[in-house]
Amino acid sequence: MTEANETEGPYDYDVIVIGGGSGGLAASKEAASYGKKVLVLDYVTPTPLGTTWGLGGTCVNVGCIPKKLMHQAALLHQSLDDARKFGWMFDEQVRHDWGTMKEAIQNYIGSLNWGYRVSLKDNAVTYVNAYGEFVGPHKIKATNKKGKETFYTSETFIIATGERPRYLGVPGDKEHCITSDDLFSLPYCPGKTLVVGASYVALECAGFLAGLGLDVTVMVRSILLRGFDQQMANQIGDYMESHGVKFIRQFVPSKIEQVEPGTPGKLKVTAQSTSSSETVEGKYNTVLLAVGRDACTKNIGLSEVGVTVNEKSGRIPVNEFEQTNVPHIYAVGDILAGKLQLTPVAIQAGRLLARRLYGGSTVKCDYVNVPTTVFTPLEYGACGFSEEAALEVHGAENVEVYHSYFWPLEWTLPSRDNNKCYAKVICNKQDHNRVMGFHVLGPNAGEITQGFGAAMKCGLTKEQLDNTIGIHPVCAEVFTTLSVTKQSGRSVQQTGC
Ligand SMILES: Cc1cc2nc3c(=O)[nH]c(=O)nc-3n(C[C@H](O)[C@H](O)[C@H](O)COP(=O)(O)OP(=O)(O)OC[C@H]3O[C@@H](n4cnc5c(N)ncnc54)[C@H](O)[C@@H]3O)c2cc1C
Repeated sequence: MTEANETEGPYDYDVIVIGGGSGGLAASKEAASYGKKVLVLDYVTPTPLGTTWGLGGTCVNVGCIPKKLMHQAALLHQSLDDARKFGWMFDEQVRHDWGTMKEAIQNYIGSLNWGYRVSLKDNAVTYVNAYGEFVGPHKIKATNKKGKETFYTSETFIIATGERPRYLGVPGDKEHCITSDDLFSLPYCPGKTLVVGASYVALECAGFLAGLGLDVTVMVRSILLRGFDQQMANQIGDYMESHGVKFIRQFVPSKIEQVEPGTPGKLKVTAQSTSSSETVEGKYNTVLLAVGRDACTKNIGLSEVGVTVNEKSGRIPVNEFEQTNVPHIYAVGDILAGKLQLTPVAIQAGRLLARRLYGGSTVKCDYVNVPTTVFTPLEYGACGFSEEAALEVHGAENVEVYHSYFWPLEWTLPSRDNNKCYAKVICNKQDHNRVMGFHVLGPNAGEITQGFGAAMKCGLTKEQLDNTIGIHPVCAEVFTTLSVTKQSGRSVQQTGC
């Protein structure tokens, strides 16, 4: 640190970014591309079980990347079953080796971590592996893993510290349970697993663990996929149930005890009903908690600099320029109040913020109609309003819902899962039947949804969908032929191709 006057400068850096995840890395590289002096601090506080990882944040290390690869491992299992119907013959018993999969995924992540370090260097961004905490309006304390403290000053700050998994706060949770932060690098196969929670993280993990052949139970406090279209959420649950995932509904764990040590050992879970005094007990090899995530805003000195934090959510409110109530302190990514917690959102916000700060741009991040996908065994792609939200905001008389089941051609030969895949568009009758909600349940839902997301940005109407000629034979073509409205009550069940 230099002898800077902490309030007036000169400062060590033009901008210090706290957090080297999706948002922080995007912002820092973009800022450096305008010749700014940039420091990124990134530090991973170990999980209660001691798991840590490298540069790049949640998505790369313990989020999108490993989970999609494990989802793919599970889909391959299904493909193996389907393959026999397509004439493939293999006699040997098929089994899955967790260690091989885990190692391949971790090696890939290691290459990404390295790539991020190189790209920061190439972009002349200084990276310090240390925990950042405000100690003054323009001053930050960086503590490395050996406990060494260094102080830096900067004109501007961008907070991009992300979120970490929440624990239940019941006896045994931190000692015996894992979270998604531990799962993807778990050195042993988790075995019989209880997944606690009904968030997309919970259902995705439950889905791929079951797909790998494990005995999986999901314990749900209330509803599945809160915030998502509930018809779709329940169809996902039904599909998972029909593919062997067990659900214990309206229960929450009250105690987790170790019965046997080991890798995995054996745990006894006692759970309490949310609606009566009933309790249940069960034994599992692994308990995976996925009951929500808390913003990392508590121990970074925000009160020291007067940055407002939403008391209930712990998230930071910002204006349309991602600026906090303290003018020289900005925030992007998962820690923002009222915004979507997704990697591309964090990247877009970080990049555009740096462009506005240093590149003369006025373009703001558009948080409306962000497409997303839940990688449950039956994938779910969505963009825009859920049906519930559309009805609430626009009123039932102004909303038209078109829908249909469809049967992917690839699933017909194995004769499986007809009337499970589903397409739904929600249109605004008061605005030229503009599509305000897009929902698809089926294979490759993310690949489908991305393009329709772009169309919705262009103001897609139902008429334009109808005038689009489909690609045959693919799943997405169903969206060009939707003719049945929900209101008509006509059947949308499919009988064949
Ligand atoms: C299991 C799982 C699956 C997911 N799947 C998807 C998906 O499929 N698609 C998708 O779009 N999104 C997905 N997400 C969400 C996505 O990972 C996040 O939206 C994204 O990573 C947010 O980026 P961020 O920059 O806000 O924070 P992060 O990527 O979390 O980065 C924050 C970084 O800051 C570090 N840090 C925290 N505090 C400090 C401090 N005081 N000093 C220094 N460093 C600090 C953290 O250790 C971390 O490295 C998933 C998340 C999870 C958990």
